[in-house]
Amino acid sequence: MVKKADRIWLDGELIPWDEANVHVLTHTLHYGLGAFEGIRAYQRSDGRTAIFRLHDHVRRLIDSARLMTMNVPFSHEQLYEACRDTVRANGQASAYLRPIIFVGDGAMGLYAIDNPIRVAVITWEWGAYLGDEALEHGIRGKISSFARNHPNSLLSKGKINGHYVNSILAKREAMAAGYQEAIMLDHNGLISEASGENIFIVKNGIVKTPSYSSSILGGITRDTVLKICEAEGIPYEFGSFARDELYLADECFCVGTAAEVTPIRECDDRTIGNGKRGEITSVIQSTYFDVVKGSDDRWPEWLDYV
Ligand code: PMP
Repeated sequence: MVKKADRIWLDGELIPWDEANVHVLTHTLHYGLGAFEGIRAYQRSDGRTAIFRLHDHVRRLIDSARLMTMNVPFSHEQLYEACRDTVRANGQASAYLRPIIFVGDGAMGLYAIDNPIRVAVITWEWGAYLGDEALEHGIRGKISSFARNHPNSLLSKGKINGHYVNSILAKREAMAAGYQEAIMLDHNGLISEASGENIFIVKNGIVKTPSYSSSILGGITRDTVLKICEAEGIPYEFGSFARDELYLADECFCVGTAAEVTPIRECDDRTIGNGKRGEITSVIQSTYFDVVKGSDDRWPEWLDYV
């Protein structure tokens, strides 16, 4: 259960949590056309709260809406401030932020081009998405029987509400079979991403991840990890790979705002590497936590203090 906070930002105003309701004719509820973000605010070691890479998330949110031909009635700066204001109004030292742009009620049917475009920002406290144990010991993944959305069916660079039906089918299938995360293949049968995370493998000291131009979401954590690799002198490359390369990898991990940097210790009941959080994964994970909530200040532009 989401722990209720005091306020929700809705269409330009901070209103009481219980009053942030919508009509059942809300268009997005019926057809899934909407854009959203998942962002984290962490309390850093100096006690201050910083929202991680807020500008990048707001940029992707607006891009997602643009991909869906939705005209957002707020500017980048207004959405940026809305996120900061909501965390501040709720007095949260750390939080998960969920801005959402959705199509309100008015006309029904698919076209509904004149319906109001509405925006909300909700913030709540959320611990490790896949669990603290997962961060240390890794998770068991399963190649999904559900393929990632084809790039000519849906637009993977958008974080779009309706896209997540594909992810939920994969996630539920994996969980029902006793695994913690689904690893999805693209329309060519190559590794794409997990239900809500980007995927990395490590082989012979080289980090590898599918390229941005494949069917993945352009993850902000993925980009952070690549910058960490550069700074730490860890070589990396972009490339497509099939499941066998993942089975034979020395290390595997998934990354996302919610899941942070989580090792994948098994896939399809096959042990990856030595079945433990790998050496390179450990360096990347500990650096990541030091950047978002420790005292690593190498990227001050990523920290948006509340
Ligand atoms: N892929 C998918 C499908 C996701 O839902 C997410 C989470 N937003 C990611 C990757 C990781 O993106 P980010 O690092 O920006 O959270």
